[in-house]
Amino acid sequence: MEKREQLYDGKAKKVFATDDPAYCIVSYKDDATAFDGTKRGTIVGKGVVNNRMSNLLMQLLEKNGVPTHYVEELSDRDTVVKKVSIVPLEVISRYVSAGSFAIRFGGEEGIVFDRPTIEFSYKNDDLHDPLMNSYHALALKLATEEEIDMIKMMAFKVNDVLKAYFLTLGVKLIDFKLEFGRLPDGAIVLADEISPDTCRFWDAETNEKLDKDRFRRDLGGVEDAYQEMMRRVFGE
Ligand code: UDP
Repeated sequence: MEKREQLYDGKAKKVFATDDPAYCIVSYKDDATAFDGTKRGTIVGKGVVNNRMSNLLMQLLEKNGVPTHYVEELSDRDTVVKKVSIVPLEVISRYVSAGSFAIRFGGEEGIVFDRPTIEFSYKNDDLHDPLMNSYHALALKLATEEEIDMIKMMAFKVNDVLKAYFLTLGVKLIDFKLEFGRLPDGAIVLADEISPDTCRFWDAETNEKLDKDRFRRDLGGVEDAYQEMMRRVFGE
């Protein structure tokens, strides 16, 4: 399948049309942003790590019964995905307190929950992605009740599968953000990416951060953290 015209140039990925309207090609960049796009930078090699890791995780999830947009990896940075219309919700699931959860509720980071949480943000740059609950999403007709139920079920399934998988690699999955899309027949599938940009990963022994928090918080060793996650996942 070949790249045709560019449809979209996002913060971390470009999206291209293909000769088949049912498919797109996503191309992962090394560009990084944080804090609502106010912090910008480059993480050398990130595009390769995120593309390859996301594709592996999408395939693992498919095997475990979670439908995804993944079709075929074309190269280190390029992947064919099913064309979907994105549900404008950022779906965040957490197992351990960190980031905005710790700030919002005044707790420390690292508190392990008895069961995972789920929350939604409205994907809307002008409004800075405000937190919302499922009734708000319904009121704004961002998704139907059936879609929201399906999204919640899928997000918890992703949490179960990925938490167990990363533990075998000596990594604790703290939290993550998912996006979902609709296929032309209306089916909901997991879309976007699952990577150190969209998950928090802590080393199981030392709690060392192995994700984008190293960039957000200027902790140094950003590229090394992405490469370390690549080694854990691919044994390279
Ligand atoms: N996240 C993301 N994109 C966003 C916001 C959050 O991928 O626009 C991910 C983030 O990497 C973390 C999880 O979602 O794994 C929870 O993030 P949080 O709400 O704590 O926000 P943050 O502290 O990143 O602003």
